[in-house]
Order: sequence, then structure tokens, then C-alpha cells
Amino acid sequence: MLIWPANRFVAGEDKESAITVVKDLNAHGIAASLDLLGENVSQRAAAEKAHDDYVSLLRGIADARVDSNISIKLTMLGLDIDLGLTRDHLVSILETARDTDNWVRIDMEGSRYTQLTLELFYDVWGSFKNVGVVIQSMLRRSEGDVERLIAEGARVRLVKGAYKEPPPLAFQDKREVNTAFDRLAERLLDRGERPALATHDDERIDHAIEYARQQGIAADRFEFQMLYGIRRETQEDMVRRGYCMRVYVPYGKEWFPYFYRRLRERKENVTFVLRSVVRR
Ligand SMILES: Cc1cc2nc3c(=O)[nH]c(=O)nc-3n(C[C@H](O)[C@H](O)[C@H](O)COP(=O)(O)OP(=O)(O)OC[C@H]3O[C@@H](n4cnc5c(N)ncnc54)[C@H](O)[C@@H]3O)c2cc1C
Repeated sequence: MLIWPANRFVAGEDKESAITVVKDLNAHGIAASLDLLGENVSQRAAAEKAHDDYVSLLRGIADARVDSNISIKLTMLGLDIDLGLTRDHLVSILETARDTDNWVRIDMEGSRYTQLTLELFYDVWGSFKNVGVVIQSMLRRSEGDVERLIAEGARVRLVKGAYKEPPPLAFQDKREVNTAFDRLAERLLDRGERPALATHDDERIDHAIEYARQQGIAADRFEFQMLYGIRRETQEDMVRRGYCMRVYVPYGKEWFPYFYRRLRERKENVTFVLRSVVRR
């Protein structure tokens, strides 16, 4: 059951509730990316159900005529079980997305999945162009990954990274993560295919806007992305200022890992939860 206060960050338990949220965002000029919550499934049946639910979601988006693509996690489609099964699920979802004129973003999970996720991405990229991937600025390898994705003409969502990673793989100092984000954002703005800069951080957003202005890069060549429930006023304000804004809208019953990551990355989110508890 979706308990309060998780519903600040999660749009509901079923796709109907999530699509209602998307309609409201669209009415404010904001596009969406719907994410069915769930990750690290260990049973084939669960991976198959996730695949079926995503196919049904794509049809639901088409029927409702809302402006939303989808975000998927490969460990929800079977990556911990069987690579072939995961690939089959991914291809089937991409086919449905193509048939319904939609587009799929493959979320990036913890570092033990980075290489596999990118390999699967390049594998399907040969046949499908309605797919993009995510790069985490906290990872030391990301500069090389961004260069290859730019060379391929692939669409990248740039994030800081939501998972705790060890020092050999990832910057531990927030300032280094931020500097890497700005540097990668510049490359993507210069040469990337419609990059998505996904952050709530005003300094990162301002840096990107100023860089795009200096280089004469039009606002419709890139987009900003934020999470549902975070900085809604800023999301609307960005649209008023002429920027493209897409909000990531998670829904479903498996909300706890996602909710926990939101609490872990910002103490104010914990304060919000504690205040809600006290008020009840
Ligand atoms: C659309 C989207 C998709 C994502 N996909 C992935 C993914 O596939 N893989 C992955 O690892 N991570 C993903 N993330 C999560 C991301 O990696 C970060 O963990 C998350 O966005 C927090 O980092 P931040 O850039 O917002 O800045 P933070 O470093 O968390 O915050 C920096 C500053 O932002 C401002 N801020 C942040 N939150 C608030 C708030 N609630 N209210 C007001 N100001 C605030 C504050 O000024 C704060 O100091 C995604 C994030 C977004 C927005």
C-alpha cells in the first residue's frame, strides 16, 4: 500500500493515478517520463510481469494522449536473472514504444550494472533509435561514456547519481560531482542529441543556461528534468522562462527503495517526513 508520506514523491499505486498526474503536469506545459517502480527482481515471473505492465503503460499513454515517455530499470526486467530474458523484454518494450510513437529511457542503476546497461543499450541501439540512457556525473568513467554516446548520436540524461559508490569508481566530494556535472553538461549541450539535464540544483541549472546562452544554443535543443514532488514551482517557472521541462513520475507498489534514495540524498526530505509524522 502507498502510505503517506511516500505519496509526496510517488504518483500513486496504479497507472491510472499516474496518468492523472501526467495530465495535470501537461496542463502546465510540463512533459513527463513515467516510471513503474521496482528493481532487482529475482523471479522470472516478476520480470515478465514488469514487462507486461510496461507494455500496458505504453498503450495507456497512447490511449490517454498524454505527453509522456517511459523510464525503465533493467534489473526490473530481469538483469539479475538472465541477460537474454532482459534483452527480449527490452526489445519488446521498444517495439511497443515504436508502434505507439513513444520513446524509452533506460535508467542507470548502481555501478555493478553500468557496463552491462551500456552494453545492452548499444546492442539495441543498432535496431532502435527510440531509446536513450543515463550517465551519472559522480562516476569517474562518465567522461568516456559521454563521448561515445555523443559520437553515436544517442540521447543522454545527465544526473549526479543516486547510489552510494566506492572511491575508486566515484567522486566522493560533492564539489567534484558538481564540477563533473557542469563539464559533461557543456559537452552534451555542444554536441549531444537533445540532452536532458536532470537536477534540482540551481547552480547546475544556471551554469547550463549561461553556457547555452554564450554558445548560442537554443532552448529547444535540450531539456531540464526534475522528479515528481520536488520543486514544482521551479518546474513551472522554468516553463514560463521558455525552457523544456520533463518531470519523472514514479508510481507503483514497490516504492520503498525509491523513497529511501530521496530521503538519503537530502536532509530536508527527512525533515518533511518527520514533520508529517508529528502533524498526524
Ligand atoms: C529526472 C531525473 C531522473 C533521474 N534518474 C536517475 C537515474 O537513472 N540514475 C541515478 O543514479 N539517479 C537518477 N536521478 C537522481 C539523481 O542522480 C540525484 O540523486 C538527484 O537528482 C539529486 O541530485 P540533484 O542534482 O537534484 O542535487 P542535490 O545534490 O541533491 O541537491 C543540490 C541542490 O539542489 C537543490 N535542491 C535539491 N532538492 C531540493 C528540494 N527538494 N527543494 C529545493 N531545493 C532542492 C538545493 O539547492 C540543493 O542544495 C534522477 C534525477 C532526476 C531529476
